[in-house]
Amino acid sequence: MMWMLRRFYHRGRRGKEKDMNTDYREADKKIYESELCGFLPGKILDAHIHIFDQSCKKPDAEFPAKHVYQKFGGVFSYEQCLAWAAALLPEQEFYLNCFGQPSLHSDLEASADYSGRISDNQRCFGMALVSPHDSVESVISRVERNQLIGYKPYLNFVDWKPRNEITIHDMLPAEQMKAADERGLAITLHIPRSGRLADPINQQQMVEICQLYPRAQIIFAHIGRAYYMSNVTGFLDGITACPNAYIDTAMVNHEGILEYAFNNFPRERILFGSDAPIAFLRGKSVEINNQYAYLMGEDYAIGSSIYDTEHNVEFTSFYYEQLRGIRTAAGRANLSRTEIENLFFNNAYNLLRRVAIANYGN
Ligand SMILES: [Zn+2]
Repeated sequence: MMWMLRRFYHRGRRGKEKDMNTDYREADKKIYESELCGFLPGKILDAHIHIFDQSCKKPDAEFPAKHVYQKFGGVFSYEQCLAWAAALLPEQEFYLNCFGQPSLHSDLEASADYSGRISDNQRCFGMALVSPHDSVESVISRVERNQLIGYKPYLNFVDWKPRNEITIHDMLPAEQMKAADERGLAITLHIPRSGRLADPINQQQMVEICQLYPRAQIIFAHIGRAYYMSNVTGFLDGITACPNAYIDTAMVNHEGILEYAFNNFPRERILFGSDAPIAFLRGKSVEINNQYAYLMGEDYAIGSSIYDTEHNVEFTSFYYEQLRGIRTAAGRANLSRTEIENLFFNNAYNLLRRVAIANYGN
């Protein structure tokens, strides 16, 4: 009996240590000190973070061995997020907008309730995961009972057609959009389809959704998933003309894409976001022949990955690579100090506070 208890105790403790370990190394600290600390403003609002605990997962949910969340003990709680942020951004006041893990493993009601428990609409803002199968009543209940500021749809919830035929309107049915429009809610949208930002149906529907629901605030995640130049060039023009369209920079470390966005999209509608905790892995996104791949310094599966199995180079986190990319691009596009502060904080804070005040009065 004793040995069994001891085994459980040790397993529990090891699990806990893994959960709170931020894997922050001396080499990362040197990057922060030499490249980032003089550039970053005092306040950062990361507008794209996935946060959930055990209560958000369906009882039978189990991540595969190479799944990114295995690095974090199978969850990514608010406490873990704050520990990572304190390690990577030791001198900055950290604010965030978060949502659960958009997958079939998640209980969407419980995920919204968890986002509600951790958000205060001051320091932490939360969005509800939504599926097109959800009734508008359940979606609005999820948002309102938790004082959340919007929705986070995802293409995995569109299960009635082949993945590459999914459209934005499939992900966000009219009823849900009408409710978002009435309340002026924010929506962080990961656009579908393999053509990404350059896909003609996306191009049409991105503008359509902004125009049909002018009070909804649409944040196109990952700069419309444009991770290589030919995907972004010329393709931000449609949403540039829509005053309720925003982009977030999550997982974009390509300085050319960031520079293009700074020069071709209204700077006051660009939000810094990271896609943490994926961004806390070691790796870098690179453009290769009109495509992109994640060069991975760790053995986790995140889409189109190429692994440095020989350990030829030493990696830092995607998070730091994103900050580096922004720094280089901001220099090339001549962003002023105020514009840098707006990108990292004010653009998102003002938008999300406006939604919170309009809906909840505080
Ligand atoms: Zn994400």
